[in-house]
Amino acid sequence: MTSIMWFRRDLRIRDNPALLAAGSEVLPVFVFDPVLWDASSSVRRAYLVESLRSLNKSLGGHLVIRSGNPSTVIPALAREVNADSVHIAADFGPYGQQRDLNVETAISALSVPLVRTGSPYAVAPGRVVKSDDTPYRVFTPFYKAWTTHGWRAPATGPLSTFELPKFISAPSEALPAVASPVSLPAAGEDAAWERWKQFNKTALAQYDEARNRPDLDGTSALSHHLKYGEIHPRSLLAELKPEHIVFIKEICWREFYADIMFHNPMSASRSLDARYDSIMPWASGTEADELFTAWCQGQTGYPIVDAGMRQLTTTGWMHNRVRMIVASFLVKDLHIPWQRGAKFFMQNLYDGDIASNSHGWQWTAGCGTDASPFYRVFNPITQGIKFDPDGNYVRKYVPELAHLVGGSVHEPWDTLGGYDQGYPERIVDHKAEREVALADFASIKGRT
Ligand SMILES: Cc1cc2nc3c(=O)[nH]c(=O)nc-3n(C[C@H](O)[C@H](O)[C@H](O)COP(=O)(O)OP(=O)(O)OC[C@H]3O[C@@H](n4cnc5c(N)ncnc54)[C@H](O)[C@@H]3O)c2cc1C
Repeated sequence: MTSIMWFRRDLRIRDNPALLAAGSEVLPVFVFDPVLWDASSSVRRAYLVESLRSLNKSLGGHLVIRSGNPSTVIPALAREVNADSVHIAADFGPYGQQRDLNVETAISALSVPLVRTGSPYAVAPGRVVKSDDTPYRVFTPFYKAWTTHGWRAPATGPLSTFELPKFISAPSEALPAVASPVSLPAAGEDAAWERWKQFNKTALAQYDEARNRPDLDGTSALSHHLKYGEIHPRSLLAELKPEHIVFIKEICWREFYADIMFHNPMSASRSLDARYDSIMPWASGTEADELFTAWCQGQTGYPIVDAGMRQLTTTGWMHNRVRMIVASFLVKDLHIPWQRGAKFFMQNLYDGDIASNSHGWQWTAGCGTDASPFYRVFNPITQGIKFDPDGNYVRKYVPELAHLVGGSVHEPWDTLGGYDQGYPERIVDHKAEREVALADFASIKGRT
């Protein structure tokens, strides 16, 4: 009995129920689907290739690489090795669901079933609903229902002791060579577990206070490992205790956004509050393009915004607090629609995830589910002073301000010599633009 294990966003062997379900004689495969590959940025392509290299090592070099439309590639492979089943972890993204249905139809003609076991989430999207069977739209009740529903314990079985099934071979393509524009963190499940253990030992106990400080190494830095399924959230939840509730809630935000995306597939690119796309008076034209470019390049004249954007483009990652600050600045100070910023994030983040990104943006813009209210406009100066009190984060990414001491770095216009090294003047006046944003919002309120 030969089966195929088709890896996608589950690039690990530990705690992998789909791999366990695949049985004792398995052909492991990864398919480079041009639809996903062409839409990916070079930073995510490079990370994926490294993650596959690591998975191949864990599989003793047996990972088969193929490229093309999975609806053609998977049936061809099933014929080639005479497989009697194809195993996957279910995908709940808008494209992935349809792709899997197409593959299921194609292999059913060969009488080969597509077997879905598990998902990239502790609780699969769509599972938690209100008593009237409608989806949750607010985080706190979703969180309560999510914890009440609970999740399975990590999958045990032969793989927990690393007795792998017998892998069978088939001709494989080579992994593509991709140059990363930034220096990437180590990929793969060993790196994920190492990072988790280090975070658990050194920073988890202080997470509640430190998580908002971009100048500290206070968060887990697990988002890319979770995105590619190098570690499963269930494996983390199994090691967490009730006193880690703040961290558990962050894991739940990821699941909440996947659930919203599942129920509202169009929200990947459209505002859940449709008024934001149809009647909000967004800036456009050459002036807006110039402001957008300054934002992308970290040249807004607001130190915490510029530090964040430069962290993004030079490292491929940005701290969550700063993601919120720069997103608020783009939408509420520059009046540019969230979709432009979300696209730029997806081009530059190595943890770029369509559900967390689109809904992180919509939350900040005020147009998503459980949104931060539109009238909450992040003040980039006070946010900088509060969350980077000594200015170390700004100095690290904005060398033109490196000579300024302490928190004075957040207000270089108040400091003697603040602009000595070529740091730009503020491109807009925050106070004035805040008023414009509030007036824009008032103008659409009550209109449908
Ligand atoms: C505008 C914006 C865009 C974002 N884009 C992405 C994205 O593309 N990919 C992505 O994984 N996260 C995204 N986030 C969420 C969050 O910023 C990152 O998950 C977090 O910064 C990753 O760092 P960490 O692993 O150290 O997080 P930790 O603080 O250690 O949190 C642990 C895990 O919980 C999850 N998590 C934490 N905060 C959030 C959140 N607000 N929403 C959803 N999941 C969360 C992540 O999987 C994270 O790895 C975005 C947030 C905003 C405001």
